[in-house]
Amino acid sequence: MSRRRVVVLGAGNAALCAALAAHEAGARVTVVEAAPVAEHGGNSAFTAGAMRVAYDGVDDLLTLMPDLTGEEIARTEFGSYPRAAFLDDMARVTEYRCDPELTDVLVSRSMATLRWMRGQGVRFLPSYGRQAFVVDGRFTFWGGLAVEVSGGGKGLVEALFARAAGAGIEILHEHRATGLIETDGQVRGVVVRHQGRRTELLADAVVLGTGGFQANAEWRTRYLGPGWDLAKVRGTRFNIGDGIAMALEAGAMPFGNWSGCHAVGWDLNAPPFGNLAVGDGYQKHSYPLGIMVNAAGERFVDEGADFRNYTYAKYGREILAQPGQFAWQVFDDQVTGLLRDEYRIKEASRVTAGSLEELAGRLEGVDPAGFLRTAAEYNAAVTADVPFNPNVKDGRRADLAVPKSNWAGRLDTPPYSAYAVTCGITFTFGGLRITTDGAVVDVGGQVIDGLFACGELVGGLFYFNYPGGSGLTAGAVFGRIAGTSAARG
Ligand SMILES: Cc1cc2nc3c(=O)[nH]c(=O)nc-3n(C[C@H](O)[C@H](O)[C@H](O)COP(=O)(O)OP(=O)(O)OC[C@H]3O[C@@H](n4cnc5c(N)ncnc54)[C@H](O)[C@@H]3O)c2cc1C
Repeated sequence: MSRRRVVVLGAGNAALCAALAAHEAGARVTVVEAAPVAEHGGNSAFTAGAMRVAYDGVDDLLTLMPDLTGEEIARTEFGSYPRAAFLDDMARVTEYRCDPELTDVLVSRSMATLRWMRGQGVRFLPSYGRQAFVVDGRFTFWGGLAVEVSGGGKGLVEALFARAAGAGIEILHEHRATGLIETDGQVRGVVVRHQGRRTELLADAVVLGTGGFQANAEWRTRYLGPGWDLAKVRGTRFNIGDGIAMALEAGAMPFGNWSGCHAVGWDLNAPPFGNLAVGDGYQKHSYPLGIMVNAAGERFVDEGADFRNYTYAKYGREILAQPGQFAWQVFDDQVTGLLRDEYRIKEASRVTAGSLEELAGRLEGVDPAGFLRTAAEYNAAVTADVPFNPNVKDGRRADLAVPKSNWAGRLDTPPYSAYAVTCGITFTFGGLRITTDGAVVDVGGQVIDGLFACGELVGGLFYFNYPGGSGLTAGAVFGRIAGTSAARG
């Protein structure tokens, strides 16, 4: 019997996992990627490589990171992140809208999938720099994110590309898929464009892994709403909704939070699309340690509502809604040492000052009097008798009309620093409906024969918000499933 031919569209994390799984299941695989080699890896290449995974303790983590030394284990409190906690996080941050079946697959297969990735050559490390604070001399993990890929997103995609090359999987760069080939209601290939020429690639099954539509200003405005054309794109310029469009054309059912997306505070002066040399360095995620003010000098969100993991993905939208679509994050020197690495890059739009009055004059676009009024009201409201502890929701509050619920510290220790941010869109939440086998479902509720999907373009997992590190895990889990299903038919 001849081997089934599977064509995988895209070459990010989800698509490459699909390609490797399809190859493993015996298929002959071709990967079609729109980007040139220098920009390949999609959004996945831009990530920090943080991957959310359910684990019951350090023994589970050792299966992913067997190189952990006794000394590292001794100085680290890894805790656990049971499946129930991952499920709870997905339910809570999506306001109980995440699809129960897809979410169950994501959570229950997370650990097994990361182990499989390890078998594909991906290496994992403890996420010390981002998800652990030192408490009583030990690194203590919090928020369910203990694992990241060695080398970050670049390390991840290079490991997967190397594996694909080793397996003899054909990868066609600078080939943009533009449509599906259908015969009698069955998907039997794809139309691609390369250097202006149209080619048809025939296949037994096609796996869509071409990401969301966040890099498409017209679709952003159409589905996310007015103003979204003004957001900066954090990652690849190639995810313009092509896979979604061709599936809808074939009768696929739209599913999930089409008006929702993952969007964060992002350097005001970052380029319009991501820059792989800087990666995710333009993000500014330490706002729980300070305050954010808009052009009127007023606070507009509860910076300490929850751990950064559970608020960062929705606060980009809040910044976009401010006059001029910008904000300043303000810190005093008590937290300088706790600011994340991205605050120290040379590209940061930073100002510093020896007093709040001096700082007020340096916050470009901000009403100085408004800022000083906000800072004074905030300082007066801080419950300074509650000890500050960045590892737990410490309840150190500032009770104001816009409260700060945790980690509130008076701005009273110079030098002060402030960082200008705007909205950076990461990926869109709306997409296609798939079965738990990764097959694309049509508007009538039937699977479309020969069509599978994975990654950002799968709808139904994320609504309004997102627990950090879930995107890569979802891509890997559903990529592996879609690839296997496509190969088996
Ligand atoms: C700056 C940044 C940091 C992030 N950090 C994290 C993190 O630490 N942890 C985490 O879990 N998630 C993170 N994310 C989210 C994460 O990147 C995504 O959830 C995930 O990478 C999506 O994987 P994917 O394979 O679906 O898409 P992608 O990796 O974007 O791959 C899609 C691919 O499809 C290609 N393509 C598009 N259209 C076509 C076409 N018509 N024909 C052929 N190819 C096409 C693209 O060029 C691209 O290579 C981050 C995202 C960004 C932008």
